Amino acid sequence: MPVIGVLALQGDVQEHLRALEEAGAQARPVRRLTEIEECDGLVLPGGESTTLWRLAVAFDLLEPLRKLIAGGLPAFGSCAGMIMLADRLLDGAEGQQTVGGIDMTVRRNAFGRQVDSFERDVDIDVDIDTEIEAAEAPFHAVFIRAPWVEQAGPGVCVLGRDEGRIVAVRQGVLLATAFHPELTPDRRIHELFVSMVKGTS
Ligand code: GLN
Repeated sequence: MPVIGVLALQGDVQEHLRALEEAGAQARPVRRLTEIEECDGLVLPGGESTTLWRLAVAFDLLEPLRKLIAGGLPAFGSCAGMIMLADRLLDGAEGQQTVGGIDMTVRRNAFGRQVDSFERDVDIDVDIDTEIEAAEAPFHAVFIRAPWVEQAGPGVCVLGRDEGRIVAVRQGVLLATAFHPELTPDRRIHELFVSMVKGTS
């Protein structure tokens, strides 16, 4: 069973821990670099990316995280976590930095300019064996002051869109969603990440 850490600086850590366990991983909250280094994969949870950024800097984690992810550590970011995995950020706070890793430009609070939070079914392409009968069924996605992907580089695979906006992407062993799959019972996204960590997807 792969060991997957959930970065526990801020955000919905517990929900990701539960989702990962249900998806077949051994999940643990991680804060220190040594704890992160012991993991086979890392989740950057939803929350507030400016807080995640400030805490990552305060705990001397930003540079080490960049190195680990550039070095091939599988990572999954939801919402604020998606922002953290973006190589380029629009509408960030002044000086806001990301960890990066995915060749994409993410616009922070992009949907929020229209409506803060909403739930909508999204067609996603998670190409894995799943025990969920309707593997191709739309994903009921919860968006909370969500970002969207404004531009994705050629190496980025778009897994899902909401009304044309890119809201789920994968690049190699990196996965990101603008919505929060940890908040709904559908485990396909977490199962995909677990299989990416195992190297089977
Ligand atoms: N708007 C938040 C940010 O900038 C993200 C919100 C979320 O993770 N639900 O980080």
